[in-house]
Amino acid sequence: MSSDHQDDLPLSTETITAQALGHIAPPFREIVPPIHVATTYVRNEDGVLTGGRLYARDASPAYDQPEALLRELEGGVDALLFPSGMAAATAVIQCLRAGDKLVVPQVMYWALRGWVRRFAEERQVELVEYENGSLDSLRAALTGTPARLLWIETPANPTWEVTDIIAATCLAHETGTLVAVDSTVATPVHTRPLELGADIVMHSATKYLNGHSDVVAGALITREQSSLWQQIRLNRGTGGAILGAFEAWLLLRGLRTLFLRVRASSASAAQIAHFLAAHPAVEAVHYPGLATDPHHAVAARQMHDGFGGMLSVRIKGGAAAARRVAGRLKLFKEATSLGSVESLVEHRAPVEGPETRCPPDLLRLSVGIEQPRDLIDDLTRALDDSCA
Ligand SMILES: *Cc1c(COP(=O)(O)O)cnc(C)c1O
Repeated sequence: MSSDHQDDLPLSTETITAQALGHIAPPFREIVPPIHVATTYVRNEDGVLTGGRLYARDASPAYDQPEALLRELEGGVDALLFPSGMAAATAVIQCLRAGDKLVVPQVMYWALRGWVRRFAEERQVELVEYENGSLDSLRAALTGTPARLLWIETPANPTWEVTDIIAATCLAHETGTLVAVDSTVATPVHTRPLELGADIVMHSATKYLNGHSDVVAGALITREQSSLWQQIRLNRGTGGAILGAFEAWLLLRGLRTLFLRVRASSASAAQIAHFLAAHPAVEAVHYPGLATDPHHAVAARQMHDGFGGMLSVRIKGGAAAARRVAGRLKLFKEATSLGSVESLVEHRAPVEGPETRCPPDLLRLSVGIEQPRDLIDDLTRALDDSCA
């Protein structure tokens, strides 16, 4: 049978067809895959499951296409979908046992940071933190007892420090430490951590991978079929934290425009970062794409085709001034989350609470795919009012 799949296409083209498995399904040969909702599969007269599936919890065909596409996008050997980004992240970290050492960054997705701290305390996992983007600090954290797992988030939410994945994995692998990277913000359009040495990539697929603010999902992709990976797969199938068929299908639909969306967001974010950096009402801009950003050199080596659609801006006049600007923006909707087609703003510190390291005057911007001119006009109005 001749395949509809062409192996030699660039990922940006292949993603659009979302046919990573190369089969447009008979008998109708639909241009998009069907939604697989069945929970169970019928045996033939000899008792054989000719479709190779027993039960949907651990082997739903709804996952075949999106998992195959994610595996290819990240250059891994296997991928697993989860019902949220947090479910994906915690699926990795929950494999640690009492006495294991876990190394995490100081700045990371807030809910995960809180969960990791509680988990480590309850399970007697030794937790060591390093300063984002500092290899000296990371080296110090990895010294002593060899760590079981190093967690990296780059660029890190909400101040977008960049960690050098090649250098960090070299350090970690010297002592046999596995490396997992939360690459939600970079996306495979800008960074492919497995090719830089990481062992596992994690995504909140709720964000750029789906990109339309209508699915909560997560994903893991692995460089090797390691014993840790087998444990994660087994835990998903039997623990039962699985994504619904419709959500998997919506995610696949969102993925088809990943390159288009992410490139547009990143190009606009770069324009907006330059605009904000020159504005008199602005204290500072955090964006690794700015040549003046302390993480720009590493970002320029590690990220290609842009620096992502996320940036943060600190407003002169403190928390109250930042609050005023957020309230005056119209096109940027004030809401949490990121990575979707519409632009969002969030006054971040109050969301993270009293223990946060996030500056009180910081607004986090998730740049969507509107015309950049319209977004800059919106910011101009809101910032000019704030000076008055
Ligand atoms: C949103 C997010 C998560 C958590 O993902 P959910 O899908 O909300 O569970 C983890 N890491 C980063 C960087 C995120 O932005």
